[in-house]
Amino acid sequence: MNKNEVKELLGVRGAEQEALFRLARGLRRQHFGDQAVVRGVVEVTSACVRSCTYCPMRVENQFGRYLLTSDELVESARRVFASGVPVLSIQGGEIPKTTKIVGEAIRRIRDELGHQLEILLVLGDKSHDEYRHLKDVGADSYILKFETSIEELHERHRFYPLADRVAAIKSLTDLNFKVGSGTIVGLPGQTVEQLADDLMFARSLGLDMCSASPFIPAKNTPLANEPMGDFQTTLNAIAVTRILLPKSLIPAVSALQKYQAGGQVAGLDAGANVITVNFTPNKDQSDYPIYGADRFVVGLRHAIHTLKRGGLASGLIDDANTIRGSLAEACT
Ligand code: SAH
Repeated sequence: MNKNEVKELLGVRGAEQEALFRLARGLRRQHFGDQAVVRGVVEVTSACVRSCTYCPMRVENQFGRYLLTSDELVESARRVFASGVPVLSIQGGEIPKTTKIVGEAIRRIRDELGHQLEILLVLGDKSHDEYRHLKDVGADSYILKFETSIEELHERHRFYPLADRVAAIKSLTDLNFKVGSGTIVGLPGQTVEQLADDLMFARSLGLDMCSASPFIPAKNTPLANEPMGDFQTTLNAIAVTRILLPKSLIPAVSALQKYQAGGQVAGLDAGANVITVNFTPNKDQSDYPIYGADRFVVGLRHAIHTLKRGGLASGLIDDANTIRGSLAEACT
């Protein structure tokens, strides 16, 4: 598929859009059967050194900062594991300190649980040596979204060169992480043609995981009054990503719920196969400001129910059979 075809597909609606989604679901079925992936995310810190225009964690916002300790991360990992969720995702703002704190936690989680949990990191740009350290102590995978593949837009919204972000993605690949990346759909100033560029770029990176998530205007950012990314275009971007990277893990992000109840089911119906449940300790959850204070916080019940509506199995770890059983009952 070339860029023009991608651009055209991003715009289809009605019967053509249904056909696009069917094709995407067919490819997903071919590579994954009816099996989806549930991740448990713990948001390690709301502090960040960057100034990204769209993100409420930007350095200018010095209120509501928190940083979990290694102890709290290990405790969160236990909760994720006890719930039967097979992937622990540790996400946060970009600060140097997370290398040490998260590294220490990973070491302890590996001692305690072996490799029963996949450990996925979303901690922003770090040096090759820091990434190597995190890999050495036992991290499996890392998501670093390029956000936009257009140099000028990247510079305008993130204030440093796209090439630096891409070099970090390459570092992760060289270190044998399973690598995820992706784009923000409807970032102010982005054209459909540029979104098509993003998806072609994602394919060229040969990613294991790739997200297409909508821009959500957040309070306390320069983009607070800009319109949300278009819902239908986001769904089409998910479906096109499934076609371009058929074997990849693609999330039905929580931001889809902002448009309508069942927004994430629509994401699954467009070819996504991942849903993320929030395991951040309650006391810190309201201080993690992504998508604003009124963001949709996904619980395990909601995730399992959503997957069921999308015709997918949750694949929770067997050891947690009892929990899974009782949850499944609660969801029917
Ligand atoms: N600091 C890390 C993690 C950032 S949070 C990093 O730089 O990778 C994870 C993702 O949230 C970001 O990659 C970005 O794509 C997304 N995000 C943040 N604010 C957003 C917004 N207002 N709308 C849509 N996506 C947003």
